[in-house]
Amino acid sequence: MSDFSKYSRRKFLWTAGASAASCILLKGCLGNPPSSTNAATESTQAQPINLTPEQQPETAQAKLGYIAIVESAPLIIAKEKGFFAKYGMTNVEVAKQANWGSARDNVEIGSAGGGIDGGQWQMPMPYQISEGLITKGNEKIPMYVLAQLNTHGNGIAIASKHQGKGIGLKLDGKKSFFEGLKSGGTKFKAAYTFPQANQEFWLRYWAAAGGINPDEDIELLTVPAAQTVANMKTGTMDAFSTGDPWPYRIVGDKIGFMAALTAEMWKGHPEEYFAMRGDWVEKNPKATKALLKGIMEAQQWCDNFENRKELAQILAGRSYFNVPEAVLLDPFMGKYNMGERQIDDKSMAALYWKDEKGSVSYPYKSHDLWFLTESVRWGFLPPETLTTAKELIDKVNREDLWKEAAKELGVPAADIPTETSRGVEEFFDGIKFDPEKPEEYLKSLKIKKVKV
Ligand code: CA
Repeated sequence: MSDFSKYSRRKFLWTAGASAASCILLKGCLGNPPSSTNAATESTQAQPINLTPEQQPETAQAKLGYIAIVESAPLIIAKEKGFFAKYGMTNVEVAKQANWGSARDNVEIGSAGGGIDGGQWQMPMPYQISEGLITKGNEKIPMYVLAQLNTHGNGIAIASKHQGKGIGLKLDGKKSFFEGLKSGGTKFKAAYTFPQANQEFWLRYWAAAGGINPDEDIELLTVPAAQTVANMKTGTMDAFSTGDPWPYRIVGDKIGFMAALTAEMWKGHPEEYFAMRGDWVEKNPKATKALLKGIMEAQQWCDNFENRKELAQILAGRSYFNVPEAVLLDPFMGKYNMGERQIDDKSMAALYWKDEKGSVSYPYKSHDLWFLTESVRWGFLPPETLTTAKELIDKVNREDLWKEAAKELGVPAADIPTETSRGVEEFFDGIKFDPEKPEEYLKSLKIKKVKV
């Protein structure tokens, strides 16, 4: 059978994803070889279920933004493997966002204005948008956090010129190295692609845990993703924090090495989230749960390591990340070439549905509180934030919808958390975060901006 006829047949079978299939077909018509991915997934598409009137979503359409890093996998897989369509969401568009700022701009205008209804977010972006902290004119645009997309899959990459100087997970005893750079006029520069969210928090935590004050001993800056590799190469940047495949590519291309994985800093840490505009959820409660069911099934599919080769294939495709499959596959199998050392441990890989601490998908309110507390630690939010945090989290975090969707999906009771807190968290430096006492956590930290 020719590739073309495979695609014709696939289009015929896959009526639910008509618009996407015809787009692929068009590519075939233009003579571009279709990727092997799509042909391989043909037989394993989820089939639409018969929806009861109660399950019938208010709309079959949603536009979800994603960034081309492994955090977005559940959204892409739910689309590609037919899990959205299975629950009646036959017209979901997963739209690549140029950067986090664009995602924010696009959710501000919503899909009606040519933007997006929601999608993938770093924390605490849904809170910052809800509170009008990062929107145009400080407009408050309520967002609902509905699920966590993943844990792990992030790390801190260091430029090659610092190789062999003992820059690793722990920086104890390395203060003089950073001071030396500072006094020599080449202060250590560490970058992320969006400020005051996960990437910046991981860099700050890592530095401060080793006695390096991120506001004094090093320089932190926002750099567009496209420039990071170039800046590392030319030596104008010393470190970079983001999700796979970018840190891994830096090692692969011999531009740098990995000092730490976030999985080493905080096993099972909260990473990125699925959140939608609040008005979209209010208008489309059944469609919201249909999206959640599709994402949950996709997360379960992603966590089956037998699917990880196909997962890497799909994400690597030209319409998604457009990277060599190999840069995704090894990390997905827990194999990290850190440059100076190797990690081979599946529990360190990006995980989407469950990990050794329980549910990954469930959005714990205690984790939202950590992101808000860390924002207070570094002076991004005023200390009073903590006195009203519970109220704010109850407004933005809709774990109730996650639970309803999980029950409708038939998730076993053992996999549905009964508490909104995951309890006390411990970091690699021995510091503990008790969600009942965020002030105690702040007090226990030596390096911080807030006065407690
Ligand atoms: Ca991330």
